[in-house]
Amino acid sequence: MTIKEQPKPPRFRIIANILLSVSGLFLLLNLFLPSLFASGPAGVPYSLFIHQVQEGEVSRVSVGQNQIRYQLKTENAEPGAVFVTTPIFDLELPKLLESKGVEFAAAPPPKNTWFTTLLGWVIPPLIFIGIWQFFISRGGGGQQGVLSIGKSKAKVYVEGDSAKITFADVAGVEEAKTELVEIVDFLKTPARFTQIGARIPKGVLLVGPPGTGKTLLAKAVAGEAGVPFFSISGSEFVELFVGVGSSRVRDLFEQAKKQAPCIVFIDELDAIGKSRSSNGFYGGNDEREQTLNQLLTEMDGFAAGDATVIVLAATNRPESLDPALLRPGRFDRQVLVDRPDLSGREAILKIHAQKVKLGDDINLKAIATRTPGFAGADLANLVNEAALLAARNQRQTVAQEDFAEAIERVVAGLEKKSRVLNDTEKKIVAYHEVGHAMVGALIPGSGRVEKISIIPRGMAALGYTLQLPTEDRFLMNEEELRGQIATLLGGRSAEEIVFGSITTGASNDLQRATDLAERMVTTYGMSKVLGPLAYQQGQQAMFLGNGGAPNPRRAVSEDTAKAIDGEVKEIVETAHEQALEILKQNRDLLEAIATQLLETEVIEGEKLHSLLSQIQPVAKETAGFAQS
Ligand code: ADP
Ligand code: MG
Ligand code: ZN
Repeated sequence: MTIKEQPKPPRFRIIANILLSVSGLFLLLNLFLPSLFASGPAGVPYSLFIHQVQEGEVSRVSVGQNQIRYQLKTENAEPGAVFVTTPIFDLELPKLLESKGVEFAAAPPPKNTWFTTLLGWVIPPLIFIGIWQFFISRGGGGQQGVLSIGKSKAKVYVEGDSAKITFADVAGVEEAKTELVEIVDFLKTPARFTQIGARIPKGVLLVGPPGTGKTLLAKAVAGEAGVPFFSISGSEFVELFVGVGSSRVRDLFEQAKKQAPCIVFIDELDAIGKSRSSNGFYGGNDEREQTLNQLLTEMDGFAAGDATVIVLAATNRPESLDPALLRPGRFDRQVLVDRPDLSGREAILKIHAQKVKLGDDINLKAIATRTPGFAGADLANLVNEAALLAARNQRQTVAQEDFAEAIERVVAGLEKKSRVLNDTEKKIVAYHEVGHAMVGALIPGSGRVEKISIIPRGMAALGYTLQLPTEDRFLMNEEELRGQIATLLGGRSAEEIVFGSITTGASNDLQRATDLAERMVTTYGMSKVLGPLAYQQGQQAMFLGNGGAPNPRRAVSEDTAKAIDGEVKEIVETAHEQALEILKQNRDLLEAIATQLLETEVIEGEKLHSLLSQIQPVAKETAGFAQS
């Protein structure tokens, strides 16, 4: 919707390079100017000068630091003519001159010092500024000229704008909406909260895949609250000129404070908020860092009392954000804006279908059923495609078959962009996730299963099982760790049982399970065979940082290495057996939950708990697994 500015750095970079080299040139000039100005008549080779002295032709000599000026006797040259030579280091010269009766003296300091100084140090900067001005005046005409550096490019949408967006325009993200309703209350009646001493949140981070309606939600908050809405994209902060980003942030907040209460919306926060440590090496982006620092300062700066400026930001890569941004007092609230489920998709379709003329045969629910994994923007696009097709087919209204064709088109386009599963894949993912959930539900230490979903999410996951710990855990025992490994293997085990074959989908699970098992053996000393020794160097940074690759091993003997591998394998295989057993024992329930999941795509909350509570524990419980 917003017009993307063309990437411009290359052109500006060239200009900046020119400016830089021009200024470099002036510095050089600066060094050489004095001598340039001081040089007078043409030089004479020093050897000739010495020769002339020895021949007694020289009458007067003035010895300077960098040159020697001299006059010849009248019979040898025109009166008044001055010759110049460049001296070489010659201590014998005074003696020679004296012996030849030449009148000599040290040269007076050059009398035009002030003038060359002026030329050397004042003029070049002036020229430099002149060139700068020239570029500024040239760029000033365009909307993205150099003149606008420093000036915030924020677009302001004020209440009363023709297209006022409200929560009614957003669907399928009910949880996010509920959270944002509170923000609207803050904006409308801040006094109600400040009176009892509550601190109004400053920053709310909308997190979710592209096209799920984050920008839309932010506008809806502004629309509902009836406050101005400043919007700027993170990538617009990051420009070539150092310091521009930070001054832009300052400007933006200055403007915003004047209009408080209001909303500042920063889209693509990750463009400036990338973790500073993740820049790697120096040469990281100084400019971005300054911009980020300025943003942090501004967010710390406005106190609760004076102005209600709420900063909303959107990102689809929360994991890359600098932790400093997520601290309390900054973006301390995070709202998940996920891809919509079946009923959400239907609601979104309903919103967008209002803009087109629908035929009588339209069944939005059927369309929603066929579009798992579509985000809101994809659905909006789908409605438009269908309308285009109808128009092309000379129809007055959009028919169901237009939608059918449009889905195929959009899916083809999406298949590369994101993941749209075919029916078989969807089925496999459903059983896989139910496998995780069922093993996880029965096993100690792996938290309560809160949600299973086969709506593709993020970049890696085709489906997911959400487990919430029932309490904060800092220590885990061996049995719980083994339980976690079994849960990780639950997905693959379900695939094995139901389909008899394994897909590539479980690779991340296996990786994590193996890492965990290896850590049990080499870091936590949980192996009877290897004993309480740490075979890894250094401390593992995170206790259960999933996926964090194990530290390099200490130098161990070949036998020990073999033993470690054996132990890791034993742990993983035992867990695998355990998962298989649980699922085999509860095969009917596995089928039932998977069938239901395929229908609704998401099962969560009470419904999920009651389903999972029907699991029968394996008869010969724990026998042989924790001890083996
Ligand atoms: P994001 O900022 O998350 O990438 P946008 O808010 O820019 O996504 O969404 C782009 C467009 O897609 C919106 O203008 C709207 O037309 C449509 N859209 C996206 N999500 C929704 C939704 N949840 N409900 C209704 N329309 C949506
Ligand atoms: Mg957006
Ligand atoms: Zn899995």
